[in-house]
Amino acid sequence: EPGLYIVATPIGNLGDVSRRAIDVLSRCAVVACEDTRVTGKLLHHLGIKRPMRRYDDHASDGAREALLGEMTRGAVALVSDAGTPLISDPGYRLVREARARGIAVTTIPGASALLAALTLAGLPTDRFMFAGFLPSKDKARGDVLTELAAVPATLVFYETGPRLVASLEAMARLLPGREIAVARELTKLHEECRTGTAEDLAAHYTAHPPKGEIVLLAGPPGAAEKPGEADVDAELIAALADLP
Ligand code: SAM
Repeated sequence: EPGLYIVATPIGNLGDVSRRAIDVLSRCAVVACEDTRVTGKLLHHLGIKRPMRRYDDHASDGAREALLGEMTRGAVALVSDAGTPLISDPGYRLVREARARGIAVTTIPGASALLAALTLAGLPTDRFMFAGFLPSKDKARGDVLTELAAVPATLVFYETGPRLVASLEAMARLLPGREIAVARELTKLHEECRTGTAEDLAAHYTAHPPKGEIVLLAGPPGAAEKPGEADVDAELIAALADLP
């Protein structure tokens, strides 16, 4: 059982930890994590005592080498602070390097805020694009939204409370007419999912500054803008009235 185990952990509700996750965390040689305090709390809650090693993708080559070495001798479990490792979290470089060396890589899937939000929002799920965190600076944020505006899919972003209103205002300008959803504090006591126009949601969250963790979604282009039949009739009548 030596190798690398990618272990998803809860995104809020500790009941979401899987039996396989508990099993691997209990038996592994070492737990590689972003923050030993955060993961220490989870392990304590589960009654598990394993050595922890801090790891992120900016870790020195030496630190990564040491971890890759451990994987050839025993099981290394990679976890992040919450949810699925590698999804806006460290691990990509470690997995890539482990695979290149022929080390066994196994995944123990579980919670991810991205999929939890997508299943709640009532937006089309047949095609979606996850785009991580929007940039914090206005210009860069606008550039990303402009680039993604034509993608024929539901867009999913991770967001923070202090930046939510600025992102909604940018969406109002650059993704006009699209259905927007804000999913907040998923699996926790104050779980909430609000949908509406970017303008309405910006007004709401200006009046009620959001606390906690947030996923921001935009429905696909076209869906909301397609004129209904009544609109087409009205436009035809208006056009006919203009004829000489
Ligand atoms: N790897 C994690 C996952 O699989 O969901 C995501 C890590 S990313 C650094 C953290 C971001 O995920 C937060 O800023 C927020 O956008 C989102 N997030 C995490 N937990 C959440 C929750 N319970 N409710 C809503 N969003 C959450």
